[in-house]
Amino acid sequence: MVSGPGQSSLRLADSVQYVKGIGPVRAEALGEAGINTVEDLLYYFPRRYLDRRNTAQISDLKIGDQATVLARVAGQGIKYTRRRKYFQVTLTDDSGTLACVWFHGVEWIQKRFRVGDRVAVHGKVEFYRHLQMVHPDFDLLDEEEDPLNTGKIVPLYPGTTELKAKGLDSRRFRQVIRACWERLASVTDNFTPQFRSRFSLPELAAALRQIHMPDDEEWIERASHRLKFDEHFFLQLLMALRRRSLEVLPGRKFPNLGPIVEQIYRSLPFELTDAQVRVMREVRADFKSGRMMNRLLQGDVGSGKTIVALLAAAIVAGEQAQVAVMAPTEILAEQHFRAFKALTAEVDLPLALLTGSTPKAERTGILDDLTAGRLLLVVGTHALIQESVAFRDLALIIVDEQHRFGVVQRGRLMEKGVYPHVLAMTATPIPRTLAITYHGDMDVSLLDEMPGNRGKVSTQVVESEQEGEIYEYMRSEMGQGRQCFVVYPVIGESVWPETPGGSETGDLKAAKAGFIQLRDRIFPDLKIGYLHGRMKGSEKDAVMEAFQAREVRVLVSTTVIEVGIDVANATVMVVENAERFGLTQLHQLRGRIGRGPGGGRCFLVQRGGGEEAARRLDIMVRTSDGFEIADEDLKLRGPGELFGVRQHGFEKLRMADLATDGPIIRVARQAAFDLIADDPNIQKPENRETRRRLVNNYQHMLDNLGVS
Ligand code: ADP
Ligand code: MG
Repeated sequence: MVSGPGQSSLRLADSVQYVKGIGPVRAEALGEAGINTVEDLLYYFPRRYLDRRNTAQISDLKIGDQATVLARVAGQGIKYTRRRKYFQVTLTDDSGTLACVWFHGVEWIQKRFRVGDRVAVHGKVEFYRHLQMVHPDFDLLDEEEDPLNTGKIVPLYPGTTELKAKGLDSRRFRQVIRACWERLASVTDNFTPQFRSRFSLPELAAALRQIHMPDDEEWIERASHRLKFDEHFFLQLLMALRRRSLEVLPGRKFPNLGPIVEQIYRSLPFELTDAQVRVMREVRADFKSGRMMNRLLQGDVGSGKTIVALLAAAIVAGEQAQVAVMAPTEILAEQHFRAFKALTAEVDLPLALLTGSTPKAERTGILDDLTAGRLLLVVGTHALIQESVAFRDLALIIVDEQHRFGVVQRGRLMEKGVYPHVLAMTATPIPRTLAITYHGDMDVSLLDEMPGNRGKVSTQVVESEQEGEIYEYMRSEMGQGRQCFVVYPVIGESVWPETPGGSETGDLKAAKAGFIQLRDRIFPDLKIGYLHGRMKGSEKDAVMEAFQAREVRVLVSTTVIEVGIDVANATVMVVENAERFGLTQLHQLRGRIGRGPGGGRCFLVQRGGGEEAARRLDIMVRTSDGFEIADEDLKLRGPGELFGVRQHGFEKLRMADLATDGPIIRVARQAAFDLIADDPNIQKPENRETRRRLVNNYQHMLDNLGVS
């Protein structure tokens, strides 16, 4: 049942259908866009603004200017060039004629304009046979609002096709939101006046009003600052609460290094780097503290996280307690398992690998040994969180590339022990803004130093015609006993939401064709291997083993090797269609070579994407700093591309922009953590509204994070 306010004032929780101008049909369309209540409507923010205050006469337009023009539609129609169809509107004011053209969404755009309509357009002035704007922002004007007298900044709303089909375009949104304000009861602020003045925030009601009906640019700025602050603040409040909830949990103490660590140290073929030593000290401090460890270990590919993880595990195993290591893919789990095996060859540490491909009989044995406590270390995939897996005494979980797991999955593994310590690892250089937004509840350790025996990798972007040179270089390296990778993008295969612009079957065909060409035509005298995500685990293993044994000289593969292979002897990496990869992904691919002292060379073969792609790829040439690359990636593509953001339930970020909000995030974080330090359960009267907002809007995240 929907409660309606009749003629009284509207409250935030009321259904949108009580707003003037929204009937049942539009209410349904809005509902499908996630706008159910008055509050949802007010939090449906403009995409941008059209500045109608400074409008230009057509005769005054200068080529190259950004300008806003108010004019009448004199003509419109679909036109054709030799190659494509486009839509053109001719506008006139008293001073001249301006053409506006659209090359996309032609049919839809055409329905927007009727001869005689008054419109505002904003765009860059160009000249092509006549004055024109290409894809301008536009806005239909109401006859009743005289645009010349109401010179103001008007919002444009993001609108979906469905919304527009129901007549909910920007103009209608403005009317509806105005109508909504006229009857809106007061909006309670979730912050006190003291809090607002401390952080120079305008009132919430003012911010909401100004974001939709701005007085001027300064108000847009202030309003969006307030709304961003709110979004970050509540996320950070969740982080602070979660951290608090973990801090009060008892953590099992492991004060000694123990016998297994001693054995590993003795057999290590290298010295730990200073960074590894520092991180081990941080881990040990957690183990001694009596509190649960909740630590994120960040380190570039090749920085030596594996040994840190193993040593942490060995401390725990030394007390006969158990450790689970969870990785997002089978290849990665296998790699960890193999690395652990190699590092513990002469050590008394019983370990096993458990994935979806583990044969049934073996699996049964492993499960028995885990329950009985005969196995101290198990490495695996999601298979580890299945109900049938039980431990005798799980005291540490290590989660690799944890942003690929939901908080829920991590939680499920944790439930298999009694407050086990948590060490999460990631090779993804997470920009700081993202790290504190997504992992804000964790302590962070950084491996910011590469083991000293690594050479430099030089990178160059090449075009298709230079293939011959690449093959020559590969041949000369292989003449010296080296090995090469050739990587193809395959859509849908990577666990990353990247590699756009193809189709899975088409991509696989291209990879296969590349493999056949290298095998039969370019290097008929050498053994070439082929690895892709559709292969069975055993087939993959066979290829990888042959490559590791240096039998296979060139490994042609799809993105599955991103996290998979550690072969110090590989010195060349060729990335085909490099423009289709994300920068972070390229960075990780490149990290697969140059693992030995000789360094390596990386060729990024660009086959499309033009100037823009070339500029992007150039970042890879310029720097090998993972954080710098990640920042660029974040700026270019946004966090949704970098991480599977949805699974975190972070869809509340409407106004926030993680690429540019660094300063706001830091302030909001401090404010949130201060609040929790002062009022751990958010019970003080002055925090009542903050609490209410948190409970109303973030309940599902409180649940996800296991905070009550
Ligand atoms: P990551 O998992 O961080 O990508 P790894 O742990 O796989 O990196 O380490 C990369 C390589 O460097 C491995 O071959 C590992 O044996 C080696 N390695 C790790 N630490 C050191 C060190 N301190 N000195 C020399 N080599 C090291
Ligand atoms: Mg690793």
